[in-house]
Amino acid sequence: MRVLGIETSCDETGVAIYDTERGLLADALYSQVAMHAEYGGVVPELASRDHTRRLLPLIQQVLEEAGMQRSELDAIAYTAGPGLVGALMVGASTAHGMARALGIPVLGVHHMEGHLLAPMLEESPPAFPFVALLVSGGHTQLVEVHGLGLYRLLGESVDDAAGEAFDKTAKMLGLSYPGGPQVARLAETGNPGRFRFPRPMTDRPGLDFSFSGLKTHTLTTLRQLEQAGELDDQARADVARAFEEAVVDTLTIKCRRALDDTGLKRLVMAGGVSANQRLRERLATEVAKRNAQVFYPRGRFCTDNGAMIALAGALRLQAGERDETGQMKAVPRWPMDTLTSPASA
Ligand code: ATP
Ligand code: MG
Ligand code: FE
Repeated sequence: MRVLGIETSCDETGVAIYDTERGLLADALYSQVAMHAEYGGVVPELASRDHTRRLLPLIQQVLEEAGMQRSELDAIAYTAGPGLVGALMVGASTAHGMARALGIPVLGVHHMEGHLLAPMLEESPPAFPFVALLVSGGHTQLVEVHGLGLYRLLGESVDDAAGEAFDKTAKMLGLSYPGGPQVARLAETGNPGRFRFPRPMTDRPGLDFSFSGLKTHTLTTLRQLEQAGELDDQARADVARAFEEAVVDTLTIKCRRALDDTGLKRLVMAGGVSANQRLRERLATEVAKRNAQVFYPRGRFCTDNGAMIALAGALRLQAGERDETGQMKAVPRWPMDTLTSPASA
């Protein structure tokens, strides 16, 4: 089954074609990052308009890359939520329009299920069951995964997401949006011993996270440095390093706990922050100590992309799931643990 995947939930237009027999055939992405950078964050109205401009040319591009005609597609999957409603509508309406014209099934998929399954696009995919750490711009969750749609939420952030904390910290450090990769780069030249930031909610049991206090801590530290006339490039790098260490350490402690609590031996990480090199290294060390394994997508598939949506859609479409005729879906808020497995739907 050859499935066209469309992702338009936020500021990336992603399109891909996934073949359930041959794997990923083509994948293309247009990032609006440069456009939104001017405003320091995503402007929803601009995002929707830009998706409208980019989507059809990208679909043409992946068809050419795959050496296929539209008529050779077997189904279409699109991100139905969560995300910005206007942006979601662009993908949803295009997918439904195209599917109707071609007379093929169409399915709206959950964006975080896409992130969660992205490691399965890689050479050695994780087998079920596993613990998943979803760390992105809008989510920080630990999920026990027993199969497609069989998700038990173990813990999540009670305030900011890890990616959001990276983005806000970047702003405070005078770096541009999106901040994660830039904070990570600056942290490389930082001295790890100069500041020690708190590891929120690690001193009590449970698997929830909180990152808003860390953001305040960063702000206070920067203000104190400024008042002392010590806020130079080195100090900024030292703050970036302390912040990154604190986030990585906190995520690592909770992952370790989740593996111990569930007794599972596979850890999957996905979402934009899973591209973080220091986090990957720390988790690799931790799982090795436990005789466990860690899986993550290639950098390109950590952040938003069409391939993960094509894959997630393909698995569900193959099991017979589809949108009701004519019912396009755009759900801005949609908790992942309300999903069910296609067999039980
Ligand atoms: P969601 O998936 O929750 O709706 P999103 O789609 O905006 O949110 P993603 O595209 O998965 O999130 O990830 C983007 C986030 O990842 C941003 O917050 C960005 O700063 C962060 N990020 C990307 N690369 C890195 C990195 N190397 N280190 C830390 N954070 C990173
Ligand atoms: Mg994005
Ligand atoms: Fe995302």
